[in-house]
Amino acid sequence: METTTHSGAEATSHSGAASTLPPRITKTLIDRLTGLITAGAAGEKREPYDMIEVYTGAVVGELPQSSPEDVAAAADKARAAQREWANWPVKRRLQVFEKAHELILSELDTIADLIQIGCGKTRRMAIEESCDPVMVISHYLKHAERILKPIRRGGAMPIISTSTEQHRPKGVVAVIAPWNFPFAISISDSIPALIAGNGVVIKPDNKTALCTLYGVELLRKAGLPRDLIQVVCGTGPDVGPTLIDHSDFVMFTGSTATGRTIGERAGRNLISCSLELGGKNPMIVLEDANLDEVIPGAIFAVYGNSGQACMHIERIYVHDRIHDEFVRRFVAAAAELGSKAGASYTADPEFGSLVSVDHMRRVAAHVDDAVAKGATVLTGGKARPDIGPAFYEPTVLTGVTPEMEHATVETFGPVVTVYRYTDENEAVRQANATTYGLNASVWSTDLARAEKLADRLEAGNVNVNDGFVATYSAKMTPSGGVKQSGVGTRHGDAGLLKYTDTVNVGVQKKQVLSARAGMPFEKQLKSTLLTLRLSRRLRIR
Ligand code: NAD
Repeated sequence: METTTHSGAEATSHSGAASTLPPRITKTLIDRLTGLITAGAAGEKREPYDMIEVYTGAVVGELPQSSPEDVAAAADKARAAQREWANWPVKRRLQVFEKAHELILSELDTIADLIQIGCGKTRRMAIEESCDPVMVISHYLKHAERILKPIRRGGAMPIISTSTEQHRPKGVVAVIAPWNFPFAISISDSIPALIAGNGVVIKPDNKTALCTLYGVELLRKAGLPRDLIQVVCGTGPDVGPTLIDHSDFVMFTGSTATGRTIGERAGRNLISCSLELGGKNPMIVLEDANLDEVIPGAIFAVYGNSGQACMHIERIYVHDRIHDEFVRRFVAAAAELGSKAGASYTADPEFGSLVSVDHMRRVAAHVDDAVAKGATVLTGGKARPDIGPAFYEPTVLTGVTPEMEHATVETFGPVVTVYRYTDENEAVRQANATTYGLNASVWSTDLARAEKLADRLEAGNVNVNDGFVATYSAKMTPSGGVKQSGVGTRHGDAGLLKYTDTVNVGVQKKQVLSARAGMPFEKQLKSTLLTLRLSRRLRIR
């Protein structure tokens, strides 16, 4: 490393390239944000992590790393603050988010800058990502009071007994987030946890922590008690176990492999967790689909966020009758998208970088493995160091067979395989032939037919005439993965209730359920059977 200078214009890369940070992103801002991390106060000191601007490879600052002791201290602080926060009426808690909604919208540009520095995604995608927490806030501002309100239900005996379903906050929620939508996931998953009355400790990915820290600063500005939300940084295996051990619930988003490790630890501690994991998502294009809509839809579904979206499409099954035309037009559109790639904080580029050189090499390795085993590259298939160190072209493959890695393993990059089918049942069988079950997409001009086919797809999200936005942006409906793609859901009523313990408070106005002293058992049994039969007949219980 040649330098670790922290200010935008002065920073240089490992290879000496200067950074291109926008003027808003100053050394003062970066230092202020990294100062929010709980790190360096307790336990053995960790070496800071060099944060990289993906577009240039320049080091833009040092990210303090938390020790396990720091993590424990952060959780303790959040827990202490949570006790008071839980006593705030929901309406008062929501006032904080009313302010946060506007604050985030008014700071979209800085948020997008910070997302782009760590991810290298396009401006358009960074702005879209920044709006996600706003949509989540808006949804829960409207529905949280209804969802969290205690529900009084009848008890076992009408009139004499009642039972009330209460939803109490769990305590401290660990939010462990990946790098691909670092702002949206870390902040949007924290919002319902906080609204439900919990404290939160976020662990972002080191590569993309700055935008999360800015989001936390905005939430505090909106009135969130300072200690209620904490950020710890470090490598997963170093800080993860302590974080889980000090939490009452884990909200994890990331790979299936890490999700398994998190789930094991949470299980051992007998706390619940929500795991949003990887996918190998299929799209089926029926013979009556309108290609004028399918082509742009599929381009976004495959290459949006440069293919680094958990719900993005990596397999497309196209009916034989339109297969050749689909391929011709899709390949041309992918090549055109590639020609609009750029490393810029402006809205001009339509295709961005991958998150790191390491990840780009992993994506390239999947393509190289497929080609070595006989697949054909119809477009793309090359890195683009002339644009930036981690750029890789939008790529279309055919002739992919099961022994190739890309056939079954999540590539998580701008790579898709097109398959031809003639029998719809065979297309469904192939689409479902995966251990994953996160997202699937069906295209047809006959909506009833498409919806019928959607019912047969094994995925937690199924989109008709769309890639993934139709399901992901519907914040009123729970969204999650099935099979190896996850446990639990986010959004909707379930996405708030998961952060609570359900408590049943039963009230008995008069003791009639237990046996009366001295009553012979035969008589007692007779009366019980009569009560059960009458309850059924009169439909009382
Ligand atoms: P990852 O599993 O490597 O890391 C995710 C987070 O977990 C990071 O913050 C990482 O530091 C942390 N981590 C790693 N090991 C840990 C441990 N032992 N204990 C605690 N934390 C640990 O995933 P990634 O590469 O950052 O993200 C890409 C993956 O995420 C892809 O598989 C993608 O499909 C998936 N993803 C899923 C969703 C969804 O909603 N289903 C959304 C986005 C990304």
